[in-house]
Amino acid sequence: MIIGVPREIKQDEYRVALIPVGAEELTVAGHTVLVEKGAGLGSGIPDELYEENGAEIVGSAEEVFARSDMVIKVKEPQPVEWALLKPGQLLFTYFHFAADEALTRGFLETGATAVAYETLEGRNGQLPLLTPMSEVAGRMSIQEGAKYLERPQLGRGILLGGVPGVAPAHIVILGGGVVGKNAAQIAAGFQADVVILDINVDRLRYLEDIMPANVNTLYSDRHNIRAELELADLVIGAVLIPGARAPVLVPESSLKMMKPGAVLIDVAVDQGGCIETSHPTTHSDPTFVVDGVVHYCVANMPGAVGRTSTYALCNVTLPYALKLANLGLEAACAQDHGLLTAVNIHQGQITNHAVAETFGLEW
Ligand code: NAD
Repeated sequence: MIIGVPREIKQDEYRVALIPVGAEELTVAGHTVLVEKGAGLGSGIPDELYEENGAEIVGSAEEVFARSDMVIKVKEPQPVEWALLKPGQLLFTYFHFAADEALTRGFLETGATAVAYETLEGRNGQLPLLTPMSEVAGRMSIQEGAKYLERPQLGRGILLGGVPGVAPAHIVILGGGVVGKNAAQIAAGFQADVVILDINVDRLRYLEDIMPANVNTLYSDRHNIRAELELADLVIGAVLIPGARAPVLVPESSLKMMKPGAVLIDVAVDQGGCIETSHPTTHSDPTFVVDGVVHYCVANMPGAVGRTSTYALCNVTLPYALKLANLGLEAACAQDHGLLTAVNIHQGQITNHAVAETFGLEW
């Protein structure tokens, strides 16, 4: 099979869909790998490294799309890329169709097949191609929180760990899933005073077992959230209700009870946000202030740490890319149910119920 890797063209996107070891694995398996010139530069991977590992560097995205049986990417195809897709071609990437009707309709017209990272299910029903990005966003949320708590960034001027004789920051994490757990681990390492709130008591039991002494757990109800917001220096919004908009846990009215210069990081902003005053921001202009409280609401946090995110993503996507390349779509789906759950559109036909239902389309 010929596998193509174009350069990502979405704003603020520095990841790439294949790392050099992936080029070697695919070429050793007998496939041809085409990488667009400069595709890896945002993640610190020069063209030569791909060439040393068996890939061919090609000059344009047009050539990558025209020559490939399967294209692998990171972000959903942009309108200029829809025009390059061919009937019968496979595109393996994040799509998030349900959030984008124009993309859904545009992709349907290409006659290509969409194999979506975000709906690929693992054996236990987890979403293994989403997990690494939640790990990145969770860990990064504390790094960003530390930065925006600094006074020049309009924060309270608080050092997360305090110093001997001065109290550390109080960090409130709403949601103890993948993002929340990773945020808590990093916050605990900074010696902050951390509390995680969740509605899943079994999850809280687990977190209580594995976390160090400076991380406590609380059931997530209105009273506990309200009390914690008054104490918080930094709040991480990390809730998720699968398939639904995030619940609003921080209403606008509660901002007045918070300390001036406190920081809210709404990681869940990509699902509508769990803070009423949130709206999506970008890495080039990540924050805004409401009622004296700094809001950071970047919908694509992993993009800023492109190198870490690229390696974390490719570690989990490569085995599936190899399976698709070695067996072809049908046999790969027959052998691995996860790949079947990833096929959202097949040759002009919607194959994912949720996407079809969202836009009233046939499936
Ligand atoms: P997850 O499913 O692992 O965890 C979500 C947790 O929220 C669960 O433990 C659940 O019990 C809890 N929860 C649900 N309702 C709650 C409530 N009312 N109060 C407290 N907890 C509640 O999800 P995740 O992988 O940790 O992702 C969290 C969010 O982060 C998602 O919206 C995801 O899309 C988003 N995300 C954003 C970025 C970004 O760049 N902004 C990157 C990765 C993930």
